[in-house]
Amino acid sequence: MARVPLVDVRAAYLSLKEEIDAAMRDVISTTSFINGPDVRGFEAEFAGFSGAKHAVGVASGTAALHLALHALGVGPGDLVVTTPHTFIATAEAISVLGARPRFVDVDRETGGITAKSVANAAAGAKAILPVHLYGMPVDMIGIREAAAEHGIPVVEDAAQSHGAEVEQPDGTTRRVGAIGEAGCFSFYPGKNLGCFGDGGAVTTDDVDLAERIRRLRDHGRSSKYEHEEIGYGYRLDTIQAAILRVKLRHLDAANARRRQLASVYTRELSNVGDLVLPPTIVGRTSVFHLYVLRTNRRDALMTHLQARGIGVGTHYPVPLHLQRAYSSLGHHAGDFPQAEAWAAECLSLPLFPEMTSSQQEAVVAALHDFFR
Ligand SMILES: *Cc1c(COP(=O)(O)O)cnc(C)c1O
Repeated sequence: MARVPLVDVRAAYLSLKEEIDAAMRDVISTTSFINGPDVRGFEAEFAGFSGAKHAVGVASGTAALHLALHALGVGPGDLVVTTPHTFIATAEAISVLGARPRFVDVDRETGGITAKSVANAAAGAKAILPVHLYGMPVDMIGIREAAAEHGIPVVEDAAQSHGAEVEQPDGTTRRVGAIGEAGCFSFYPGKNLGCFGDGGAVTTDDVDLAERIRRLRDHGRSSKYEHEEIGYGYRLDTIQAAILRVKLRHLDAANARRRQLASVYTRELSNVGDLVLPPTIVGRTSVFHLYVLRTNRRDALMTHLQARGIGVGTHYPVPLHLQRAYSSLGHHAGDFPQAEAWAAECLSLPLFPEMTSSQQEAVVAALHDFFR
């Protein structure tokens, strides 16, 4: 029987094993485990990749969000506009600063927040925190405009979208993370750019913001024994930075392969049952962190695929406004109908750069089988 995992972190490692092992050995032989040269090296290369002037390596995607919001002055009592259809880390970063997420509903097509919902909710907010979900950018042009009208920053949660692009009004393209005031990336192993544990980065064009985040991630240090302000223990390990430098060199090719696999799914699954497939949107290029489809028969389809050895996921089955952790916000079922529909109907299919054609054919065949 076909065994197709949802993601294959081992295959990703094996495809670059020699390079990665050498990079790790180098760090171990120098024992420069904290703030070693690979951290600065990776930061410069990741800034180059993203098209932002600066990148600051941090301990995780969650830490990136926490630091970016803190450095932009989000604090107790503030409101930050964000999405209920995401991983909880997005909203947690707001909450742990004593601020409150102001959830708005998402787009039926992409699952991301819209410029319109942001415009309606931005009054009185301290910042906007959209998520480029599944690798597909939100409407950053419209959202940036809505935020600018209220004079507040946009912090991009780009944890799922390393390298995704948005066409600018002048016709050039920019990568996510380099469009808002700050971009937050995760290098969790299964992300498009993943390390061998936890890691993350904040990108920004603002040198003062970058320096503040650099200081905050390392206990507010201005020198070894001097601390300018209260900060965090949120550094990126040198060994993770060394691994990331290797994998970054192959990221554009890996993203291209993801897009190719996604186009095969879209070709083979159009007009199958009631499936709604990921949209193509003019001016926005997805990097397909996930290939997420929607169906009214989600749970039955999931059982069918799992019984055939096909790994599937639901990203995410419970929207944040209905999580117990957020019960204090007083939301109810029905408050954000589009987010709730996504939660009930979404299904993530196997997709990773090392996926073979025969693996993908097995997934497609099992889907056709179900709707026959
Ligand atoms: C993965 C993820 C995060 C958190 O990143 P970690 O590195 O796991 O802390 C935040 N937001 C989104 C949308 C994510 O997918």
